[in-house]
Amino acid sequence: MPTPHQMQLLRQLPQVEELLHHPAIEAIASIMPRPLVRDQVRKSVDGIRSAILTNKLSSFDDDDIAANVLRGLLKLEQPSLKRVINASGVIVHTNLGRSVLADSAAEAVSEVARGYSTLEYNVNTQSRGSRHDHYEQLICTLTGAEAAIAVNNNAAAVLMVLHEFARGRKVVISRGELVEIGGSFRVPDIMALSGAEMVEVGTTNKTHPHDYANAVDTDTAMLVKVHPSNYRMTGFTESVDAATLATLAQSENAKRRQIARAQGIPGGESPLLVYEDLGSGALVDFTIDGFHETTVSEVLREGADLVSFSCDKLLGGPQAGIIVGSKAAIDRLKRNPYARAMRLDKLTIAALESTLRLYLDEDIARKEIPTVRMLSESAEDTRERAEKIANAIAHAVPDGAVTVSVEPDTARAGGGALPMCDIDTYVAAVSFKRGSLEECEHAFVAERDVPVIPRIHGDRMLLDARTVQDDSEIAEIAHAFTEYFAQHGSKPQPRNDA
Ligand SMILES: *Cc1c(COP(=O)(O)O)cnc(C)c1O
Repeated sequence: MPTPHQMQLLRQLPQVEELLHHPAIEAIASIMPRPLVRDQVRKSVDGIRSAILTNKLSSFDDDDIAANVLRGLLKLEQPSLKRVINASGVIVHTNLGRSVLADSAAEAVSEVARGYSTLEYNVNTQSRGSRHDHYEQLICTLTGAEAAIAVNNNAAAVLMVLHEFARGRKVVISRGELVEIGGSFRVPDIMALSGAEMVEVGTTNKTHPHDYANAVDTDTAMLVKVHPSNYRMTGFTESVDAATLATLAQSENAKRRQIARAQGIPGGESPLLVYEDLGSGALVDFTIDGFHETTVSEVLREGADLVSFSCDKLLGGPQAGIIVGSKAAIDRLKRNPYARAMRLDKLTIAALESTLRLYLDEDIARKEIPTVRMLSESAEDTRERAEKIANAIAHAVPDGAVTVSVEPDTARAGGGALPMCDIDTYVAAVSFKRGSLEECEHAFVAERDVPVIPRIHGDRMLLDARTVQDDSEIAEIAHAFTEYFAQHGSKPQPRNDA
């Protein structure tokens, strides 16, 4: 039951129609769509009603409600998906959209978006073409694979491979590789969804070749390896590589052929396949901090029949997942109904084709694909950029408002790649003499058209030069400081004991 005071406030709540005649709201309704304004008025009245009922509001007037409506409408005018400046030092940051596209990839997207395209049209034969044609040859050239298909993301790729080749049959996997990657991707769940029967072998820390060998029977469709991604085991551990699994599969397949021949159905056997979910899918060598991320061609050379990987992690392209393997296997996947349900749209294909093209010359890939560039750049080069950031900040703030220094620090690859690797970097470290770190961080993240995402360490704000893209982003960071101190930072930093 509302208290008498709450009842009195509730009676004071104006009708929606009444509020629409408030001068401030009438003014904005003349320039904004009326249904939007009416909706926002209703939301604001509802918001105030629940604030009254939860004792968060003890008095208000119509002007307060009008101001609330205006704030809500201004928010609606803002796009929700915005560019941000990533000064966090996490290169493949899933919450910030993973990979920044290369300029040529972004241009390709824009070009294809603005007109009709040859998405499924073969200009040579002037007849129907396949959307796979735009990227398949490039992937094969870059990885040494015979065939390839790209789908919506690597999670989709894993689901599709298991569904096509292991549905209703057994899949052997090490207990050390039953991982969860980023919340909603858990290997056992994807197995269950695909209809494959999971056979776990080995232990959490050690799995041996004979563990796999002992588990294989005539109903086993696949030996699966999953890259542990954002998780690494050290110490008393052992796992089996794709090469060893391929050898095991070869002898099993020789047996199956023999049995099929003995039964008079040669070719009727279904082979045991080796599939590796590689996660990141590096196309070039990244050896950082002594740790090497296995490339797609390395796994194929080891003898894996199928390999899948993400396109927006170390590869540095759009969100997509690629599966490579034999032509016969990929042809089967192209006919799987999931291939249609999880197919790529033309914008992604444009970005993917264009990104892959840059890899044809590794030097160009390392220069022009931002993710690859950020991972490859020397610490010295990031120091130069950190100094520029620090200088720009020093010039942008009132005298004595902050102290800024350039310091060595550690950046991260992110995206479940090279998980434990310390990447040497330089940061501009900012201590606040006026205003406050918390208030400034909030202003940077929540109140800007282009949010600036820093890293916080103790009582300092760190701006990591490794993930800041260029001079224009440096200028935007400096401007964010200017605006913060113009709007918020006039008060001296309160003393801790105050
Ligand atoms: C990241 C990752 C996935 C999921 O890939 P998405 O492209 O994000 O769908 C699957 N498996 C492994 C090993 C990964 O690292």
